[in-house]
Amino acid sequence: CGIVAAVSTRNIVPVLVQGLQRLEYRGYDSCGIAVHAGGLKRARSVSRVAELATQVEREHITGTTGIAHTRWATHGAPAVHNAHPHFSHGPGEGADKRAGRIALVHNGIIENHDDLRAQLKAKGYQFASQTDTEVISHLVDSLYDGDLFEAVKSAVGRLHGAYAIAVFCKDEPHRVIGARAGSPMVLGVGVEDGENFLASDAMALAGVTDQIVYLDEGDVVDVQLGKHWIVDRSGKPATRPVKTVHAHS
Ligand code: GLU
Repeated sequence: CGIVAAVSTRNIVPVLVQGLQRLEYRGYDSCGIAVHAGGLKRARSVSRVAELATQVEREHITGTTGIAHTRWATHGAPAVHNAHPHFSHGPGEGADKRAGRIALVHNGIIENHDDLRAQLKAKGYQFASQTDTEVISHLVDSLYDGDLFEAVKSAVGRLHGAYAIAVFCKDEPHRVIGARAGSPMVLGVGVEDGENFLASDAMALAGVTDQIVYLDEGDVVDVQLGKHWIVDRSGKPATRPVKTVHAHS
């Protein structure tokens, strides 16, 4: 239902949590956050964002790169194991669950999730949820060969349905990839230290940045420190205007 993501040089957890709080009014049944902290760390809750914030403090979850989500369940009951972010730990029985590689949040509905799940299971991926979203995290993992932007570009080409996603990878600590089709997503160009953001609504970034790029249908965006890069649905580099948006809280 709502997405906030960031690449920064400061601990970005408070900004992500505040972003979720600004999206709370839309309604949600669960919420979650994942950060890069050497490896991937995550907290998820079927309670309110305030409860997630307490959990994050209790577990000392901090990081400069992260993604956060409020979920409105469409596939799979509202439950912690179905809450986003979803991880992929790679294929096979031996996949080390502590060594999650891909973390992903998603708004929307993937229509061909059954087909994709069957293909990924055949490759040895094990599913930890009943969501349509988890197929995207394993699909990205299965296509990953050292460049997350390339993996996400290939992955979205295989999705039917509506999505806004934000993804990051253990092996690329200062990078988040976003993509959208049928669900909204904006890029927020940060004003401090090269930090950059993604959000399902500019309002989630109020007080953080007012420099907003509205992504087009089918865009994929590479978000890094001090730079970003957008390609359109055909994979061609795209230039989108940066607008100054006065969002109200
Ligand atoms: N279809 C996804 C799920 O049920 C995402 C729902 C949403 O947009 O929050 O987990």
